[in-house]
Amino acid sequence: MKFGAHVSIRGALHLAVDRAVAIDCECLQIFVGSPRQWREVHYSEHDFDLFVAKRRDAGLDPLVAHTAYLINLASADPQLHARSTAALIYALRVMDRLGGKAAITHLGSRGTHPWPDALPRVAAALGVALEATDRAMILLEHSVGAGGQVGGTFEELRDVLHAVHDHPRVGVCLDSCHLFAAGWDLRTADGLATMLRDFNRTVGLERLHAFHLNDSQGALGSRLDRHANIGQGRIGRAGFATLVNHPRLRRLPGFIETPGFDHHGPDGRNLRLLKQLRAAGRPRRQRPRSGH
Ligand SMILES: [Zn+2]
Ligand SMILES: [Zn+2]
Repeated sequence: MKFGAHVSIRGALHLAVDRAVAIDCECLQIFVGSPRQWREVHYSEHDFDLFVAKRRDAGLDPLVAHTAYLINLASADPQLHARSTAALIYALRVMDRLGGKAAITHLGSRGTHPWPDALPRVAAALGVALEATDRAMILLEHSVGAGGQVGGTFEELRDVLHAVHDHPRVGVCLDSCHLFAAGWDLRTADGLATMLRDFNRTVGLERLHAFHLNDSQGALGSRLDRHANIGQGRIGRAGFATLVNHPRLRRLPGFIETPGFDHHGPDGRNLRLLKQLRAAGRPRRQRPRSGH
């Protein structure tokens, strides 16, 4: 697995590349505006060009965006639904301009509405966003599934993919913390294998394009979305050693969104830990026995 971090764009877009380089990222994730505001930031062509040139020189690949937290593609409120769709389109357009691979998005909440009512609204928003943009993928982020949150089960992710006719520009992003909080026991090789088997049966591993690598403050199945530094949460180092070295996940980028050992956000120390686990390879006991 390739490792990167969610880095800040504070000051200017291209400064995110400097921040990613400073902590030895191999790939990077950014917000394209303020994650808690609807306002779109209009970047200059100079800022875009500088970002593109710096990223090329640094060899950071892939680049992805995380959409604003306010987005609710399942909302029954027409204004909120329209704003959410527009915010998704904005993130995709910035990715298209910067040569980014995808915009990773939360799907939002259906509130008290049943899933069959909410699903067409999610699908409609995705359809409009795909029509309005050219290239970057939309990655649906698996959630902890608390309080009407959409995408907390693999079945819901599958339903959304089916509703957009398995569009080639729509895929999935899994988050280790969200998986654990949703009940998938990533502490053991068996637990990881069970999760991957179920995901493959329900969604298909070919649909998985990115991982968020966060340890979990919340207990297994707690549905608490609280990220911890790698090794400081309930998943622990052994769990991540298995995860980052799994043959089916090796081709994926993994982005940390950890609180940081100095509480300043995703940091070099979390990345170094992951790189150590990767260098050490798969935990011995899990190596398949040679058949001959
Ligand atoms: Zn997220
Ligand atoms: Zn989270």
